[in-house]
Amino acid sequence: MRAMVLDSPRTPLRPAELPEPEAGPGEVLLRVRTCGVCRTDLHVFDGELPRPKLPLVLGHQIVGEAVEDGGRVGVPWLGWTDGDCRYCRAGLENLCDRARFTGYHLDGGYAEYVVADERFCFAVPDRFSDLQAAPLLCAGLIGYRSLRLAGDGERLGLYGFGSSAHIIAQVARHEGRRVFAFTRDGDTEGQEFARGLGAEWAGGSSEQPPEELDAAIIFAPVGALVPLALRAVRKAGVVVCAGIHMSDIPSFPYELLWEERMLRSVANLTRRDGEDFLALAARVPVRSEVQTFALEDANEALERLRSGRVRGAAVLDVAERSREG
Ligand SMILES: [Zn+2]
Ligand SMILES: [Zn+2]
Repeated sequence: MRAMVLDSPRTPLRPAELPEPEAGPGEVLLRVRTCGVCRTDLHVFDGELPRPKLPLVLGHQIVGEAVEDGGRVGVPWLGWTDGDCRYCRAGLENLCDRARFTGYHLDGGYAEYVVADERFCFAVPDRFSDLQAAPLLCAGLIGYRSLRLAGDGERLGLYGFGSSAHIIAQVARHEGRRVFAFTRDGDTEGQEFARGLGAEWAGGSSEQPPEELDAAIIFAPVGALVPLALRAVRKAGVVVCAGIHMSDIPSFPYELLWEERMLRSVANLTRRDGEDFLALAARVPVRSEVQTFALEDANEALERLRSGRVRGAAVLDVAERSREG
């Protein structure tokens, strides 16, 4: 099968011909149709996450078709848990001590085939095409968990208007919230994009919003945004860091946290998040803005994501060749 392989961090993915993987007990062999490109893939690529499987096939927003029965499923980041550590038993399988993650500890979807533990696969609602569904599986899902942990406040700030934020803005609007979008300073195109998806205000991240926010979610992996977001939220407001990695957070005066403001991170997902979010996304209905790349162009997709040149979500159209016959 064709695959793009990470041999070691910071070296371009290598196009390779690999043997088709074999499904073990409880696993399903999937023909990959599409696979979303996530900011986390770049963190693995850059060596910012410890001890990846190497060589590795990246990719954890997989829409695949079961080879055995043709059923369509989604494969997310959470690939396996032990089911009996203190976190699993407390309903926090996202924090499982022995969790394995797709496209990090387990080979992912930058390939024609993948095997996945069937207990961790999701049914994908019919209304989403393969391309539309891929970004829901991490950008949407992690965004959704972040939104839940941000509380029920009406005025929501989103820092970094990429694949997660453009989906969560739609969910937040559906829930009757008001969205304030922050992009890189000077990114007027990104701000226009955010307004088109229902943000009532969009500006650069160093700007203050026109009103105090009830909560903010930081999607960009930039620690310097933390004090900016704390400054923008009201007393007892919540700031959620949604990414798996961030540059260092600069020191800031205690008064930014004072008055019961809260700062927290979000890690991974539970299967419950996935089921709840996919059902909600179908009701909204979420429309992902997708920029497609061939499997062989995965390196270009990653570099475009790094430099902020993807509008919405980047998705590898892995089955493109077979679709074209
Ligand atoms: Zn566990
Ligand atoms: Zn991801």
